Amino acid sequence: MDDARTDRKIPMEKLSIVVPCYNEEESLPIFYDSLKEVSSELSSLESGPQNIELILVDDGSSDGTLETFKLLSNKREAPFSIHWISFSRNFGKESALFAGLEAASGDWICTMDADMQDPPSLLPTMWNEISDGEYDCISTRRDDRTGEPPVRSAFARLFYRIINCLSDAEIVDGARDFRLMSRQMADAVLMLKERNRFIKGIYGWVGFKTKWISYDNVERAAGTTKWNFWKLTRYAIDGIVAFSTAPLAIASILGIIACIIALMYAAFIFIRALIFGDPVAGWPTMMVIILLLGGAQLLCIGVVGRYLANTYIESKQRPIYIVRETGGSVSD
Ligand code: UDP
Ligand code: MG
Repeated sequence: MDDARTDRKIPMEKLSIVVPCYNEEESLPIFYDSLKEVSSELSSLESGPQNIELILVDDGSSDGTLETFKLLSNKREAPFSIHWISFSRNFGKESALFAGLEAASGDWICTMDADMQDPPSLLPTMWNEISDGEYDCISTRRDDRTGEPPVRSAFARLFYRIINCLSDAEIVDGARDFRLMSRQMADAVLMLKERNRFIKGIYGWVGFKTKWISYDNVERAAGTTKWNFWKLTRYAIDGIVAFSTAPLAIASILGIIACIIALMYAAFIFIRALIFGDPVAGWPTMMVIILLLGGAQLLCIGVVGRYLANTYIESKQRPIYIVRETGGSVSD
């Protein structure tokens, strides 16, 4: 075990824990208490981190999240230091994660949610796994989707099946954003500066050796989820657009198939007219064909438009997030 570490010259010194928070004033104190316990446990491990920092990112919350940050920073009773960042508005979890990774100064970086759905108690296991030096990242996935509406689960499964067919990057079904990764991997993630940040795809795209740990689905400790069906649908479409250009190819294939069918049908009509004359005008067939092709054309234009819109947004090169306030504490 030690040999592998020496070979790769991994300093096991500092651990940064990045937590994106959007309206989490109720969950944060529970999370903080739990992390306090786990940090002591981590520090007492034989090869535990010598230093732990907690990076809290307030993603433009409208409740008392920022006040809770300040309160927790001033407590100075935990065995970790706190550094917090507050955005000027809500930029989304992916942007909050990006800001947190940028701010993290650790040799190892862990990203997790504030709502206890990513149990802090798993951290020591993850730490032990990564300190073997064999893996660059320890990732977690849910075993089941208990507590989730069945329709949402069915759509989620379908989405993962589609995106994995279409994309080169491996995107794991049930993967959480609860990860412990090396500095090197975090830096690689930070090199991808796209605005449409589908983080599950980004992790798959950067690669590195990842070990998966499964755990039972945990319900939120407090507060409510920020997702609804439409937000998830948009997330799914953004994910596909960000990590695959296959829908564009499918649009052209559809066009080619439609052309071939149209040519064959034209030949059929021509021959039929030669043999039987031209008895019926064939309105129903005409309408069906017009509607079908019109629909297919609009769909394809829509697909192309989606990619164009994405290119447009990326070309503006706007910042991924804007900070309004930062602060923190140093543990005693
Ligand atoms: N979150 C965020 N910005 C957002 C939405 C969510 O920073 O716009 C954070 C949220 O505070 C939580 C994590 O991302 O720590 C996961 O959010 P949530 O629990 O709503 O998602 P779910 O666990 O239901 O997938
Ligand atoms: Mg959650």
